Amino acid sequence: MVTFLAGGTGTPKLLDGADDVFAPAETPVVCNTGDDVELGGLLVCPDVDTTLFSEGDLLDRETWWGIADDTTETHEELHALAEAAGLETGPRYLPDEAQTSGRYIARWRRFSGVAEFMELGDRDRAVHITRTGLLDEGKTLTEVTEILCDALSVDRPVLPMSDDPVASIVHTEEGPMHFQEFWVHHRAAPEVESVEFRGADDAGPTDAVLDALDAPVVIGPSNPITSLGPMLAMDAFREALESTPVVAVSPFVEDRVFSGPAGKLMEATGYEASTAGVAEAYPFADAFVLDSADGTDLHRPVVRTDTELGTPEDGQRVCRAVEEALALAGAEVS
Ligand code: GDP
Repeated sequence: MVTFLAGGTGTPKLLDGADDVFAPAETPVVCNTGDDVELGGLLVCPDVDTTLFSEGDLLDRETWWGIADDTTETHEELHALAEAAGLETGPRYLPDEAQTSGRYIARWRRFSGVAEFMELGDRDRAVHITRTGLLDEGKTLTEVTEILCDALSVDRPVLPMSDDPVASIVHTEEGPMHFQEFWVHHRAAPEVESVEFRGADDAGPTDAVLDALDAPVVIGPSNPITSLGPMLAMDAFREALESTPVVAVSPFVEDRVFSGPAGKLMEATGYEASTAGVAEAYPFADAFVLDSADGTDLHRPVVRTDTELGTPEDGQRVCRAVEEALALAGAEVS
């Protein structure tokens, strides 16, 4: 068994095409839930869902989120209604007292559904309604995700990092805001002062995650702050990584990031925005996969290949490099 850790883009891209190298049933994916939001009463789990949709072959591979060819009628109607009513659009974070009442898992990340600030497709929304309904019936997020795996014919176990709430809050010059408000609405423009993982002190990885972390671990190319940060903020998660072989694929080529706000968030939290900074953020990593054009000297074992991902062939090539790196990390992979 080998366990992958995932945000919403890099690891799903890596796993797309991985099946010949890493058998799905033997390679669980632990997904970040710090990015999750409750929107209009529905729990939306972007990183879990990208993995579910990718593994279930439903994913929109242009955007790497949502379901391919989905319609957006409900979303458009929400905007038409808000406009007709003269209601302000943009994220509408609920008042403080509403953030800590109601569903436990959705703490500190509740937004009104008025003029829905994240675009949810119609089929996509059916997943969120089913997830939230099952949570309300008393199931844990882990149990609900297993049910969704079955429904979407996903063979790879998809494990939310925790059944407790952890909310990624970005503190900016414009005040604190949930990561999705910072990223989706502000396009990462505000200056960042710090990043907080609210709830992490009282949150723990699930038993299923701790079991998965007994196996060698692969960190796909991920945002070290907002995708790995919520996991590493839980003591038991970090400790588990310290006692198992870990391989990380860099989301950078030296100081060039492939996509997203990783560079800006790393600089704001005291890391260099580069492969060297990623290595510093992962002191427990035993080996790395870097791009062939990345000459960073990490003083840890490195396997190089073309790390540009986007097709199943790319995923397969990088997974072969990961396999080599796992051997260098001392992992016994059957
Ligand atoms: P999220 O979409 O914010 O949840 O992001 P992830 O945690 O999955 O991180 C995306 C990271 O993957 C970014 O920092 C990108 O630089 C990196 N990334 C995106 N595409 C590629 C790629 O093709 N190759 C590599 N090596 N990294 C990539």
